[in-house]
Amino acid sequence: MDRIVIAGAGQAGFQAAASLREAGFSGSLILVGDEAALPYQRPPLSKAYLAGKTDARGLLLRQESFFAEHRIDHRAGTRVTALDRGARQVRLSDGGSIGYDHLILATGTRNRTLPVPGADLAGVRQLRSLDDADALRAAIEGIRRIVVVGAGFIGLEFAAVCAARGLSVTVIEAAERVMARAVSPETSQAFRAFHEEAGVAFLFGAGVTAIEGGGERVAAVRTADGQSLPADLVVVGIGVVPNQELAEDAGLAVRDGIEVDAFLATSDPAISAIGDCVRFPTRFAAGLPGGDRVRIESVQNAVDQGRCLAARLTGRPAAYDAVPWFWSDQGPRKLQIAGLAAPDDASVLRRAGAGFSVFRFRDGRLSAVESVDRAADHMAARRLLAARRTLTPEQAADPGLDLKALAT
Ligand code: FAD
Repeated sequence: MDRIVIAGAGQAGFQAAASLREAGFSGSLILVGDEAALPYQRPPLSKAYLAGKTDARGLLLRQESFFAEHRIDHRAGTRVTALDRGARQVRLSDGGSIGYDHLILATGTRNRTLPVPGADLAGVRQLRSLDDADALRAAIEGIRRIVVVGAGFIGLEFAAVCAARGLSVTVIEAAERVMARAVSPETSQAFRAFHEEAGVAFLFGAGVTAIEGGGERVAAVRTADGQSLPADLVVVGIGVVPNQELAEDAGLAVRDGIEVDAFLATSDPAISAIGDCVRFPTRFAAGLPGGDRVRIESVQNAVDQGRCLAARLTGRPAAYDAVPWFWSDQGPRKLQIAGLAAPDDASVLRRAGAGFSVFRFRDGRLSAVESVDRAADHMAARRLLAARRTLTPEQAADPGLDLKALAT
């Protein structure tokens, strides 16, 4: 194989490039990314970077010299605009095109927008990129009232940073609890309490019907039950949609993500796809509402898929079978999740000191573990799930159980 082209220079695209070189790929490697910056980590954007505890350089996945040393041709600020599968070429926003022997789609996701009047007012913002984070850092200077729409991970992390600065923060959520799609009622309840103690106010079961403003500026958020919440800044965190149009327009299979097989190959053997933009089969999704295929938005998934694909493209094919895991830092609390839970999976709570873990079970089998300030439980859970060790709900409920011993 002479040339591999990667569309998308985020966590997954970068990892694939780095792992390809590590695995000995010696051909031409072109990493095309539509952002201006070198590949960087997104998680700190809603945490340390937003709080001013790290600078943009601290976000970089590698310094500039790495790309030259590893002969990775990073084309920053360049968008792949179309695929020509017949000619095995990608077209670029700068008017050029590049031929490939293998193409990797790692285009990630974009934020879902709020479909209400006023959503385009200045002062209504989202958080996905470094540019968004820079704009938000500037926007929270000198204001008082923030309304966050959506009590998901990013909305809550943002709320925690703002509350810690003494700003007035209200989170509006359509569901009845925080992180409702991702965690158990027990974990939701605990995080709601953490945030309320830090001064964050919540409005649950509330739909936003309009964002009101005077001139260009935002002034208030109106809810379906007629409330009007004054706001100097509105941050919308209501989920993402996969960047799958390149694949779709080229006739590849898509369904809330680019469809790939267990080896991360699309329906075209010359094209693979990895990271947030991909729907893939995994044993960890068995019994989930969407069947045994899932799309996961996490650093772990982007990194592990990048590595797995690099191994296949350099002659060591293996089905992708990594344990899904995730973390979210909300104020001083660290939430870590191993596995994939369905909303109605059963819960078993284990407390220890200030932290706790919720063990989730689907059809009597361990599906996921949510740990709050319990890193040891999280690591043990990852090992248990990887090794398919049996843990019963009764064992999980036993305070005397040595989880670490069971996992080793
Ligand atoms: P991305 O990193 O989004 O990269 C995709 C890249 O492709 C982007 O740069 C995009 O602009 C580019 N692109 C798209 N289309 C094209 C095109 N046609 N041509 C060229 N380039 C294109 N995960 C965790 O596990 N823990 C966390 O605490 C956490 N916190 C997060 C906080 C924030 C604010 C955000 C936004 C995400 C967070 N995540 C977290 C999620 C994590 O960052 C993503 O799962 C990860 O970045 C996915 O990697 P990716 O490469 O698939 O997508």
